[in-house]
Amino acid sequence: MTQKLRIFSLITIHVLILAHIYIFGDEVVGSVDFQEFFHSFIKYGIINSGVILVIIAFIVTLIFGRFFCGWGCHFGAVQELSWAILKKLGIRPKTINSSIITILPLFMLINFYILPNAIYAVNQPWEAITIEMANPSIWAFLPGFTIATLTFIIDGFLIVYFLGRKGFCRYICPWGAFLKIPNTLAMFKVRNSGGCIESGNCTSSCPVGIDVSYEINHYEKVTNTNCTSCMICIDGCPSKAITYQWKNPLKENFQFKHYFLNKDMYSLPIIKKKFRSIHSKDLIILILILFFGFSIDGLYGMGHFLSFGLASIVAIKFFALKSYFNNKIAIKSIRLLIVFIFCWHATIKYSIWQGLKNYDANNYNTSIKYLECAVRIYPKSIGRFHVLLGRMYLENNSIDKARNHALKAIQINPNYHSSNELLKEIESIEYQIYNELD
Ligand code: SF4
Ligand code: SF4
Repeated sequence: MTQKLRIFSLITIHVLILAHIYIFGDEVVGSVDFQEFFHSFIKYGIINSGVILVIIAFIVTLIFGRFFCGWGCHFGAVQELSWAILKKLGIRPKTINSSIITILPLFMLINFYILPNAIYAVNQPWEAITIEMANPSIWAFLPGFTIATLTFIIDGFLIVYFLGRKGFCRYICPWGAFLKIPNTLAMFKVRNSGGCIESGNCTSSCPVGIDVSYEINHYEKVTNTNCTSCMICIDGCPSKAITYQWKNPLKENFQFKHYFLNKDMYSLPIIKKKFRSIHSKDLIILILILFFGFSIDGLYGMGHFLSFGLASIVAIKFFALKSYFNNKIAIKSIRLLIVFIFCWHATIKYSIWQGLKNYDANNYNTSIKYLECAVRIYPKSIGRFHVLLGRMYLENNSIDKARNHALKAIQINPNYHSSNELLKEIESIEYQIYNELD
């Protein structure tokens, strides 16, 4: 019954969102996105729909736990759908355990959302707190159709197949990392009500891979802050040994060590085979994820979720290729190809970064060197880079090269104002030169 209610909640929330957009457009409620709390509130002191959502989610979590994640999140819903489809196909991916699930989402939260916006606010303090409910528009942070579809395929489906149930929530989601703070103090928790027969059902069925059996028997409650209050463990317990119960936080037994994974977890024989540990390679895999993620983040219009979701799958599977191929040469070749692809994209990212930085500093010769490299090796054609190159060549009196880049920019985007302006300037200079020579 609880699970039917939860699925009903997940579907209803999304139907209501679509109905709202259909009826009111994006004029009443703007972007209802978690990142609003960082991009709008922390950065500019603006309170909008997304900020209110985050405040409500924070307070609800403080009392009831991460209901938002288990009962309302679209990424969570897609992953559950993926799990159900895989189950129908007879595929049961193992859940991969690693300390990366604690570090990476927190890193994503701090590095991409808290730090840049907090630094901005410190350098340019808010003048006032303003309320702008419809600002920015609902679609402000949504990527284009192709990238949005890819994000759902990789972070909603493939990540479940490769990293286990709710792989995105565990390995990537920065909003989950944010809600771990109030979830630590949540008053309602899954608690031991006595009579556990160590069937392991709760651990096996937990969608976020918590060793429920271990935690309730050692800490009397589920302390893992990844718990999304989905109640699946309670529904599946054969001896009704766990309940969702309130406890006065002042009487709660808070111990720091209860909030970390420990090596005795996941050791019940019945659950062991459902999990795979990569703890011995945590550090090297984390370094690879960061390298792979940063090397593609922002390229081709990819956002952080897609880049780091893809990076996590590739980096974790980098050391597990033996389970797919039994030929050593094939494994080595695939590893080399992966490293080559990400190094290539890291070079593109670095060239763009240096090219733009030197352009802003008027170091045109250096900027030309990097941007020429970027446009040569980046498979996606970017009109703006050709316009910048055209401008710099014009400044350096290399008219032919300037013209070639302006034409290339127009070819990429015929309606781009800057490229047409640039071509006009070049033609007028050529005309002057021609007249002077005449
Ligand atoms: S511990 Fe129980 S309530 Fe929490 S996420 Fe796992 S199954 Fe759901
Ligand atoms: S499902 Fe119930 S009986 Fe089985 S391990 Fe979990 S709490 Fe104990």
